[in-house]
Formats: sequence, C-alpha cells, structure tokens
Amino acid sequence: MTAYFDNAATTKMGRAAIEAMLPYFDEVYGNASSLHSMGQRAKEALEEARATVAACLGASPAEIYFTSGGSEADNQAILSAAKIGERKGKKHIITTAFEHHAVLHTLRKLEKEGFSVTYLTVGEKGNVSAEEVAAAIREDTCLVTTMTANNEIGSVLPTAEIGAVCKARKVLFHTDAVQAVGHIPVDVEKMQADMLSLSAHKFHGPKGVGVLYARKGVALTSLIEGGAQERGRRAGTENVAGIMGLAAALKEATAHLAENMKRVTALRDKLIAGLSRIPHSVLNGDPSARLPGNVHFCFEGIEGESLLLLLDDAGIEASSGSACTSGSLDPSHVLLAIGHPHEIAHGSLRLSLSEYTTEEEVDLALEVIPQVVKRLREMSPIWREKTEGKKPFLLP
Ligand SMILES: *Cc1c(COP(=O)(O)O)cnc(C)c1O
Repeated sequence: MTAYFDNAATTKMGRAAIEAMLPYFDEVYGNASSLHSMGQRAKEALEEARATVAACLGASPAEIYFTSGGSEADNQAILSAAKIGERKGKKHIITTAFEHHAVLHTLRKLEKEGFSVTYLTVGEKGNVSAEEVAAAIREDTCLVTTMTANNEIGSVLPTAEIGAVCKARKVLFHTDAVQAVGHIPVDVEKMQADMLSLSAHKFHGPKGVGVLYARKGVALTSLIEGGAQERGRRAGTENVAGIMGLAAALKEATAHLAENMKRVTALRDKLIAGLSRIPHSVLNGDPSARLPGNVHFCFEGIEGESLLLLLDDAGIEASSGSACTSGSLDPSHVLLAIGHPHEIAHGSLRLSLSEYTTEEEVDLALEVIPQVVKRLREMSPIWREKTEGKKPFLLP
C-alpha cells in the first residue's frame, strides 16, 4: 500500500476533469482563433469555461485570464502592478516573508530595478494581521501582495481584512490563492482582491494551466507578446483542453467544498493528534486558521531528507514542505521566517491531504512515522549527546 501525502505539491486529476478534456484532443481540436466551425466550437468551449471559473470565484468572465499556471499568474499580477505604480511614481510594494518563490523572486527582480519591498514578518504561528499591512502602507505603495494560504505550513491569512485595508487606502491588492482555491471558500468580492492567482493542478485539474483574475479596470501588462489571445493580455494559442479540465475541476471542487472540508479536516486533526505525541516535536503554522489538508511538523534531531527517503521506502509519499528548496541545503525560508533555528528547520515534514485521502492512508502514516523518527534519532550522534545531557533539547 502507498499513501500519497503530497497534495500541496500537486494532486491527482479527478475523473470529471479528465473527461472534460478528452474531446478537445482529437474531436474539437481546432484553434480557438480559427474562423471555421471547429475553431468556433473550441472558442465557445473556452468562453463557457471562462464563465464557469468566473462564477466559482464571484467574478465576471471578462475578469478571467488563462495562464500557464500559478507562477505565471503571480508574475503577471506583480509586474502589472509595478508598471502601473511606476507611471505614478509609486515604487513601494508590501508582501510577507513567507510567500511562494513565484512572488518572492519576482519582487527581488523589481528591487534590482529600483523598487523597494517591505517583507512583513510572520509571527511564530506563521500569520500576519491586516493591522500590520495597514501600518506598512506608504504614500508610494503601489501593491500589496499576500498569499491566501501558505503552501508549506498551511496558515490561512485574513485576506478579506487585508483586502479591506487596501481598498480603504486605494492600494492595489493581489493574493496568491493557489493553495486556497478548491480547498476553502474563495470569493474575489469578499476578499476585495484586485488580482488573484490560481492553478488547476492544485485542485485535481491538469498541470500547466492557471488563471489570473484581474478586476475590471486593472491594466494588465502582457508577459508574452504575440497574438491577441486573452484580450491581448496573454499571447499564444489557448490550451483549450487544459482550460476545460481546469473549469471542470474547479466546478467539482466548489460543488463539494463544504463536505470535503469537513472530511479532510477530520483526517488532518487525527494526524496532528497522533504526531503530536512524538516527543521533541512542534506543529508549525496556525493551529486554527489552517488549511483543511495541511499537517506540518518539525522533529528535533532528524534530517528531513532522510525522513522522506525512509518514509518513501515504507510507501508514504510526503514532502519536507518546499518543493523549491528540496535538493538545496538551505532550510526553508518559511520555517526561518517563523523563527526556527536551522537545526530545527532541517527536520521538517509536510503531509498534505486531499478529498482522495483515505482513513487507511492516515493510519499507515500514524503507524510508520513515529517508528521512522525514532530510528533516525537512534542513529544520530547529536541526538545521543542530547539524551546524555551534553547538549540541550530545543523543542519540548
Ligand atoms: C504551486 C504554487 C504556485 C505555483 O503554481 P504553478 O501552477 O505550479 O506554477 C504558486 N503559489 C503557491 C502558493 C503554490 O502553492
């Protein structure tokens, strides 16, 4: 038996999404810009998908732009706001220290071009308040970009409150909702978001397709020049099959949101309760304002990479938390942002669940993880020094 606990990295596709895509590979494969009837059928399907997505987000179809995924949507949102700001002489941006690299690296690029960026610190529980955002807004602030929910430690930010602050202060507000859409309620009106990013493969749709929502009146800059697709904001022949899969997956997730949240939260809490019994460990992230599918721990005295390999041998597919950081020796920027020393940050484990997660998978994880942590600790010279009292324990 294998247990898949890496849904924050990507999810398996649902049947509804797969079936929605199939006709667009070999039956209605026309280019949506072609004038013949097959092209027009593709175009109609595309516009239907746009309306479906808009309805799920509380937006209007003209505010939906299809992209190649969450990263592109984040890049386009931030670079567009920077362009708008620059024209008005406003070159200050506010974000948080624990954003996805698609946001952070785009901002680093802007810093090199003379923008200044405030990185709001996130507290021990990994959250920020709307008051902190309000306090950071300056005369020259052109954008606030804060994620709806964190991909590593699962904290859910007070996005509607942050949106209200931005609206009152007339600052553009973007939220990276890639981890939130399909998992918790997301509504662009309630959040007062001017721009919002989402990605299909995080909610059982296909990889390589996403959406940038941009409120009417927000002038998007295109990242890719070429044809007039997506109303001139995103050139390139539309990924019609992928877009159909995205819309079907979003519709499915939205229709079953309440029941899925309830089921997944119960499994999450069972995992958290069980793993909390491991001594010298800590649950990261906000215990209550938390994604239904996120479990994230640090275990003192172990190496996250070794833990993942042994878990994989036992059939458990998990993550240290950051796909972008694995392979490098640097600990996760998110765990450092919530104040963990390197030693603790290295011993992290993220289990991310979905509506496909079963009770059996959870039970397997609860049986295997405590054993593997124990085994790794027994092999560690540092752990021996700690148990012999030569070095202090950092976690209770
Ligand atoms: C996965 C993810 C992204 C990137 O989305 P892609 O579609 O994989 O490019 C951006 N932000 C967050 C929070 C994510 O979890």
